[in-house]
Amino acid sequence: MDTAPTLSELSARTAARFAEVFGQAPNWTVAAPGRVNLIGEHTDYNDGFVLPMAIERYMVLAAGPAAAAESGQSSGNIIRVFSDLIGSAQTFTVGQVAELPPWCVYLHGVFDLLAKRGLNTGPLEVLVTSTVPLGGGLSSSAALEVATATLVEAVTGQVLDGRDKAKLCQQAENQYVGMPCGIMDQFSSALCRAGEAMRLDCRSLETTPVPLSDPNVSILIINSNVKHELSNSEYPVRRAQCEEAASALGVKSLRDVDPAALAAGWSKLSEVAYKRARHVVGEIARVLEFSDAAANADWSTAGELMYASHDSLRDDYEVSCPQIDTLVELAQSIGPSGGVYGSRITGGGFGGCTVTLCETAKAAAIADRILAEYKDHTDIEAMAFTSRPAQGAHVVRYQ
Ligand code: ADP
Ligand code: MG
Repeated sequence: MDTAPTLSELSARTAARFAEVFGQAPNWTVAAPGRVNLIGEHTDYNDGFVLPMAIERYMVLAAGPAAAAESGQSSGNIIRVFSDLIGSAQTFTVGQVAELPPWCVYLHGVFDLLAKRGLNTGPLEVLVTSTVPLGGGLSSSAALEVATATLVEAVTGQVLDGRDKAKLCQQAENQYVGMPCGIMDQFSSALCRAGEAMRLDCRSLETTPVPLSDPNVSILIINSNVKHELSNSEYPVRRAQCEEAASALGVKSLRDVDPAALAAGWSKLSEVAYKRARHVVGEIARVLEFSDAAANADWSTAGELMYASHDSLRDDYEVSCPQIDTLVELAQSIGPSGGVYGSRITGGGFGGCTVTLCETAKAAAIADRILAEYKDHTDIEAMAFTSRPAQGAHVVRYQ
């Protein structure tokens, strides 16, 4: 089982790295978590429900004002960023279009959009560290955006409404990075609370806490360490198929369709559009059922809903892959007697992670067994960790 430093250890480490790289102590340290979606996959852009929780894996940013000499003569603020992961520093000017390495675009987009709202930080030096696996479907990108927005809040002293902040970060990913993501990831990183999953109605943006603090139950996340290229190209295709299905059924989005209406309207849809719609309609219902099951500590029902979600994503939505199916099958073969309640693919698909609901006392043994058997089946080393529901983005240290 993989372990990560606690947030306070990671923050101290980030501050120390900042001092090494920039030669002074940071003035501000902020953190934003990654997230795992428990259930409700590919429902966000259909105006449906999702049920993510923030995880105890964080993007941490430490920052200080840049020396005057570094700010140059430019009218825009110059931001110098060093990512521990990338191992190099980059400089960009807020408000100026520039060719940047992709990882910098997340920061640049958020700084730009906030400057347009009058949040100007002055020239800054920023150091980025992270324990959110990159590109694994745990939303390191949203964590980076939300951490950046939280840093700008800390520096300017202007606090944004959490929903506005999440929407602005989504806008940065849509417009600057060019990824047409929904709102779930940024909402989770900005607004989740410790001990709770967050049910988000992606139409009204209303959030409902779903308590998840039973110490006997754990959330086990397994990164398949597989990412198929299809994920970026198929995402817009799935979105378009959902829009096609909604318009053929004469509704604004698939949120407006219930199972009976879908069954009645099947002849209006192509076979593929029908399968996509069946996933979305079923999955929206499963989020509500899962929330009720969790509220009643009915983990068996919650687990069954996770398996149903996985089957639907594999067969109707067609966004799984053999390696992920193997992880879910291995979990399922351990079963309730071995402490596994349920398991499913999480994130956009075509690789990434599974999320498994299991008994806390058996979590380590479950992870060991799944990792060993996965290695036997695929020759790939997966990575596993458990997480409690974590606190959303916040300032760690403010001087
Ligand atoms: P996910 O959000 O599932 O992790 P994405 O592809 O959406 O995957 O986002 C990953 C991208 O976020 C990386 O390619 C990189 O550009 C950026 N990123 C993530 N973590 C870091 C980091 N520690 N330092 C710099 N950039 C990072
Ligand atoms: Mg992402």
